[in-house]
Amino acid sequence: ELRELNRMRREPNQTRDGTEIDLFANAESREDVAEAHALGATGIGLYRTEFLFLQRMELPDENEQFHAYRDVILGMSGRPVTIRMLDLGADKADRTGLALRDEPNPALGLRGVRLSLARPALLETQLRALLRASGYGPLRILLPMISGREEVRTMRAHMMRIARDLRSEGHEIADYVALGAMIEIPAAALALPTFIGGVDFLSIGTNDLIQYLLAADRNNDALGELYTPLHPAVIRMLRDLIRMAKSRNRPIAVCGEIAGDARLAPMLLALGLEQFSLHPTTLLEVRRTIRNCDLDRLRANAPALLRARERVEIERWIDAQRGH
Ligand code: PEP
Ligand code: MG
Repeated sequence: ELRELNRMRREPNQTRDGTEIDLFANAESREDVAEAHALGATGIGLYRTEFLFLQRMELPDENEQFHAYRDVILGMSGRPVTIRMLDLGADKADRTGLALRDEPNPALGLRGVRLSLARPALLETQLRALLRASGYGPLRILLPMISGREEVRTMRAHMMRIARDLRSEGHEIADYVALGAMIEIPAAALALPTFIGGVDFLSIGTNDLIQYLLAADRNNDALGELYTPLHPAVIRMLRDLIRMAKSRNRPIAVCGEIAGDARLAPMLLALGLEQFSLHPTTLLEVRRTIRNCDLDRLRANAPALLRARERVEIERWIDAQRGH
């Protein structure tokens, strides 16, 4: 078993019928990046920058952030690197005093891009560091907790302005830096047509999307199976997001935990997903599953998945795909 999994290190990411699937890595440390590189990840699909800010009292300054981001980019030697802007708040605790303390409803509070927009110095420092790092390899900047068009437009304007500033200061920054949105708030999923033209790529954060869609706290064990990707609303939303992104030629990935669950890979492929972003420890197993999948057959079975009316029917569909 272990030997077979190890053999997967050298195998390409493709389905049995030869369709290339991107397996990006989620990372939050130097070790994760090295591991992603060694396992042949397509790139980094989600670098969580919170970890630079946690467990300390002072904010990392522009140079510290620049060095951290540059190291991630250099560590992937030319493969695309997606760095997410700060997503403090809610389940990501913070001691720097940046996020508000004692919000009555932190999951619905000042977190993600909302916090960055409310703290101009924070936003400025991080965007400057990111854009300076863009001179070292292909960088994609990912915005967390986007709820609609205004936030995307405002962030794009900041990015353009700061790029101009940096160039006039003599910094060498990339001609093109992709800007993408996390889809993790149901409103952003439903309103995607209103802002898809303003983003270069999309990443579905199913950890939060499921939480907000099903009104089920992602960290509350008492909810048991109420927090689940196996709900018809989740499946329909994923199908619609992937369809919409494809129709507008925007790459779309899933970067929530479900992307690293090999059991769910056939379901995500059936829904049209071609980019997974997952923790390196799950990469080989998902690669092995994908290599055993027959894409035409899975997609032919997608209508039955969309017809499933409740959890057991969805589970039955998943079990029936084994070896397909
Ligand atoms: C998500 O919400 O699915 C996600 C990838 O981000 P995080 O788990 O960091 O909130
Ligand atoms: Mg999230």
